[in-house]
Amino acid sequence: MAHIGIVGGGLMGCATALNLMERGHSVTILERDAGGLPASVGNAGILAVPEIDPLARVDMLLSVPKWLLDPLGPLTLRWQDLPALTPWLVRLLLSARPGKVAEGRAALLTLMKTAEADHAHLGALAGISGHIRDTGALTVFDSTAARDKAFAHETENAKLLGCNVEKLDAEEARRRVPALQGAFAGAVFNDGYKTFEYPLTLLRRLQAALRERATLLDATVSSVAQAESGIVVRTEGGREFTFDKLAITSGVWSRRFVADLGLKVLLETERGYNTTFMNPSTTLEMPVFFSEHGFVATPFENALRIGGAVELASPEAPANYRRAAAMRRKMRRYVPDLQEEGGTEWMGRRPSTPDSLPVISLHPRDPRIAFAFGHGHVGLTLSATTGRHVARLLSGETDAALAPFSIARFQ
Ligand SMILES: Cc1cc2nc3c(=O)[nH]c(=O)nc-3n(C[C@H](O)[C@H](O)[C@H](O)COP(=O)(O)OP(=O)(O)OC[C@H]3O[C@@H](n4cnc5c(N)ncnc54)[C@H](O)[C@@H]3O)c2cc1C
Repeated sequence: MAHIGIVGGGLMGCATALNLMERGHSVTILERDAGGLPASVGNAGILAVPEIDPLARVDMLLSVPKWLLDPLGPLTLRWQDLPALTPWLVRLLLSARPGKVAEGRAALLTLMKTAEADHAHLGALAGISGHIRDTGALTVFDSTAARDKAFAHETENAKLLGCNVEKLDAEEARRRVPALQGAFAGAVFNDGYKTFEYPLTLLRRLQAALRERATLLDATVSSVAQAESGIVVRTEGGREFTFDKLAITSGVWSRRFVADLGLKVLLETERGYNTTFMNPSTTLEMPVFFSEHGFVATPFENALRIGGAVELASPEAPANYRRAAAMRRKMRRYVPDLQEEGGTEWMGRRPSTPDSLPVISLHPRDPRIAFAFGHGHVGLTLSATTGRHVARLLSGETDAALAPFSIARFQ
């Protein structure tokens, strides 16, 4: 059994750690801000198993010019960051070729098929149960043409996943979610979506389980290096650790460690914004997607979270919270009773690859090192599955089904 270091204690780090410990390894997690609010905490809280479509597709690219015209719309680009983003954007365009999309879809389907069972297992490892609610989700549309197109596509995906999709008129959608009093043309209900109790609670409970049984250190990792004796990790505080093996699970910040280890990756942030109302005056019976506007509203036990959108920008660029306000404003068209005051705004960084496939991979030349990052929009959904696979890889198992997620595709 090995002593394994893990850089980053978000969802990927925690899920990897618990799965490694199940296999008898000892684990040290280095996390620079264990009380912080990374993507793993502020996400929309949805187990999004039906989302098997890569982002880069011809239909998506055709919508880009229209979206970019609205500075607070579903997709924005921070133009001063364009030079740094260009290699990622070029690869995104190449990933939209139909053959690539089909390959990406098949690969994501493989991961999604076990996502729910993997979360049940991860919960059991941490002593958590009943944390995923069987809600389904509704997507509302401004035109019946858009609703019908989405229904046809979701039905096709549902056949692969074994879930059910219904086409609803506005009246039936309103019967299921009465707060939707504004005007819209119709909706699609998909029972393949589920809702986590609350993302912050989930991460804190995973971290608490690790504090009890492993070492979770408050430390900012400054560099990693390969040595004959092991993998050497140095921290900003001047400490040095040598591990038998190492997993890099630091979200978008993983890219500096990939470079330390002599490899390349295209990893950028799709930043997202939201507002959370605690003890909200509006109740939704299930998550409601406003996909034509690029955001979603998720009801939790004592909270309502409204947000989404994609802002392509450098990770450290200042936040523009007018995006969070714009989504609240848009939601009032559909839910006129949505409160104006009292919400907490947040910005988070989705670590994203241009082909929408996460990196779940060993180092091609050093099997002591694993990578788990780049899950973009579906990192909560795929965290438990990723943790299970990384633990298998670091325990010496191989799996041809993981080939599409190899970091080798960027070398
Ligand atoms: C607005 C929004 C909504 C979303 N909604 C959903 C959803 O409903 N469903 C879904 O499946 N996914 C959703 N996601 C995506 C999901 O949240 C992310 O893909 C996922 O949380 C990524 O987890 P991670 O552990 O890879 O990264 P992170 O959560 O970013 O964690 C990385 C960790 O590494 C630590 N770290 C970084 N550098 C260092 C260092 N040098 N030393 C030590 N530690 C370091 C950071 O502090 C952080 O804790 C959403 C994301 C956003 C932004």
